[in-house]
Amino acid sequence: MPPSDESLPIEALREQVCHQLTQQPVVITAPTGSGKSTQVPRWCAGQVVVVEPRRVACKTLAARVAELEGCEIGSEVGFHVRDHHLASDATRILFVTPGIALRRFAELTARDVVIVDEFHERALDVDLLLALLVAQRQGQLAVMSATLDGVAVARYVEGIHLEAQGRQFPVAHRHLGSGAQLPDRDHLPERVVAALSQAADLPGDVLVFLPGKAEIGATAAALSGWADVEVIELHGGLTLAEQSRAFRPCALRKIVLSTNVAETSVTVPGIGVVVDSGLVRRTRYHRGRGFLTLSAIAADSAEQRAGRAGRTGPGVCLRLWSEAARLEGATPPEIRRESLLPLVLGAAACGERVDDLRFLDEPTDYAVAAAKEEAGALGALDDCGRITDTGRDLYGLPLDPPLGRLLVEAAKRDTLADAIDLVSVLAVGRPLFERRGAPVHPSDDLRVSACDATANIRALREGKPRHHGLRPHALEEARSNARRLRKAFGLPAKRDDDFELDREALVRTAMAADPRAAHVARHRRGRTYWSNGGTEIELARDSAVHRAEHPPEAMVVFETRAFAKDLRRTTVMATCGSPVPLPWLVKENLGKERVARVKRHRDGRLVAVVERVFARKVLVTRESEPTGALAREAMAQLILRGSLFTEVLAPTRERIRDATLASRLAAWGKLELPEGLVPPSGWTVEGWFLHRLAELGVEGADDLELLSPGDVLFAELPYEIREVLDREFPREVSTADARYAVEIDLDENEIMLRYVQGNRGRTPSLASLPAFAGFSIRVDSGNGLAVLRR
Ligand code: ADP
Ligand code: MG
Repeated sequence: MPPSDESLPIEALREQVCHQLTQQPVVITAPTGSGKSTQVPRWCAGQVVVVEPRRVACKTLAARVAELEGCEIGSEVGFHVRDHHLASDATRILFVTPGIALRRFAELTARDVVIVDEFHERALDVDLLLALLVAQRQGQLAVMSATLDGVAVARYVEGIHLEAQGRQFPVAHRHLGSGAQLPDRDHLPERVVAALSQAADLPGDVLVFLPGKAEIGATAAALSGWADVEVIELHGGLTLAEQSRAFRPCALRKIVLSTNVAETSVTVPGIGVVVDSGLVRRTRYHRGRGFLTLSAIAADSAEQRAGRAGRTGPGVCLRLWSEAARLEGATPPEIRRESLLPLVLGAAACGERVDDLRFLDEPTDYAVAAAKEEAGALGALDDCGRITDTGRDLYGLPLDPPLGRLLVEAAKRDTLADAIDLVSVLAVGRPLFERRGAPVHPSDDLRVSACDATANIRALREGKPRHHGLRPHALEEARSNARRLRKAFGLPAKRDDDFELDREALVRTAMAADPRAAHVARHRRGRTYWSNGGTEIELARDSAVHRAEHPPEAMVVFETRAFAKDLRRTTVMATCGSPVPLPWLVKENLGKERVARVKRHRDGRLVAVVERVFARKVLVTRESEPTGALAREAMAQLILRGSLFTEVLAPTRERIRDATLASRLAAWGKLELPEGLVPPSGWTVEGWFLHRLAELGVEGADDLELLSPGDVLFAELPYEIREVLDREFPREVSTADARYAVEIDLDENEIMLRYVQGNRGRTPSLASLPAFAGFSIRVDSGNGLAVLRR
């Protein structure tokens, strides 16, 4: 008999919701367990899609709604999550995760009703999804949550806010931590067991909040000796059948060990006691890669979790931290804390630009700009901010963009098998190797090759958890990733067993996919830092690269992670590296070539020493007869050295200085510049020669014969301007009792008055000098320096 849910609090809203949905967007708030997720979709007419942030919730809700509708899951009611879907053409109510919703956006918005559930979680992709729906809505729209600011969201979606009251019994709190103890992971299973012993006499089933699968497994193991209880696990890695155990009545007392999913997404019936570790595993982003990190929950989450004990009667919540510990008040929305690369890419994939969308909380311009730059560097967006084919490929993969980019490049270079295996490990987002776990036999150490990439690939291919010191769950997940990716890229499911890993091909692919993957070593004060021209990073302590016989000159970094030193500071560590010789960087054309020096310029021939530089490191030097930009660079050097067009250097230097000064005066409103006459301030003398030679079409030494010195001379400024300059910035100034030469430092914005003649002892007053606007002024009287103005 299908259970009846007639009595659920949400029923009070039924008529209004059904009516309003046909008129405008509806925002529904009602306490957790009121029946929002299981009832509202059933009320809607036509094709319905429900966006549910968590995979577990998608599956269990679909199962529950199918049960209520009296149908098989996968028929009229179905779900689609990242690696599992049960749905058909006949599916009227479809539960999906936000990731899937974004990737099937066009198709889903064509449905009659879109419901965005659990909106309060404010994950980045849910914010994006709602922004896209607000911009291009076609059908009916509902937004639901237990803890939402309904009024604000209703204003945002230009709809109506409907609220249902729930029933909630009082919940008593007991803090089990001492001092100012924050939630932490040490001895977690033991502390949970101790809390459960305290709860033995309290009525009702028990719900324990733990951060993840690993902690749930460890706690279940610690409870294995307990009699007369039913221990049930609830997390994303379970099958549907396993998940449904939590909801089935049971003669024994149930102890449900759950992730955050039971906080608001799913409601386990009959809970009288909540044990809360106070921990959550959340995705943090670094350079477009998401990593699960452990954090303490915010106070609003702690309140929600406690509330789960008071649904059927008064309850008790046991907290594994101290009452004095200060939790954060509320969890800020991801759009305010994370890298926005997925946002920029997701918007582009759906044909919109982030700048044109309206968000509930607007992202900062800075974060959007940084994300666009990142997307451009990955080749995912073109100059106009439209998605490229590469970008589309990337977005189609269930991977963070940088890992996707590696696979896209590997497919072109025929090194896909290796790349897929490595990416499969990295996509897990947690280390594969046990931190302290050593292999049973030293000869079984997979990390002997001094390359983390090789170690990870070998672990995936041949690793045995216990034997090789690997984490079983992570290994299992990596292998499942590899199966999916092999299928997606059309590789046979069965591997040939005798393949050899081609490390050079793999690291070169990584450099081609993203040149910033290459890092060169810098040694400072006994430590080694790694630079790709941006921020320097360090090598993680347990990296296999430390075992290299000779310290490598360069390395390709496949993965970096930001580690929080404390609440404010983070350091970035390379967690997966592979040593590379410098010539491999050269083979991939990394860095830039520049003229180190001109060797010879005789008989119409020009010979220069050219060096290739990456992150300030010279990779290689060669001698050549340069052409193009390098030829012009060599010629500019010759001019600056005074060995080509000798007579142009001094006047050009002076005139560029004057032109720069004139443009400053123009900026101060003291002068009007004829258009096109003066270069933008900050032009260097070398910059002028390079610019001019290019303008003249100089491509090689031959072209020099056609030029005369006058061609590269900087034109003299018009008389009126020189006149103003002489007044505002004279070459010399005289005060009542001395004469000084004026030296102008344009880089430092500094004027130095150097004593020439007269009374040395007296410092000139500012009033006796020209304004020298925008410059600091110092005086060198020959027997000391004085600052006249800072
Ligand atoms: P909300 O979305 O408002 O938090 P739900 O629609 O998820 O509420 O749940 C409504 C009610 O249905 C709750 O009382 C919950 O206990 C019950 N329920 C949900 N899923 C199941 C299930 N699989 N088996 C039995 N009861 C369930
Ligand atoms: Mg719900």
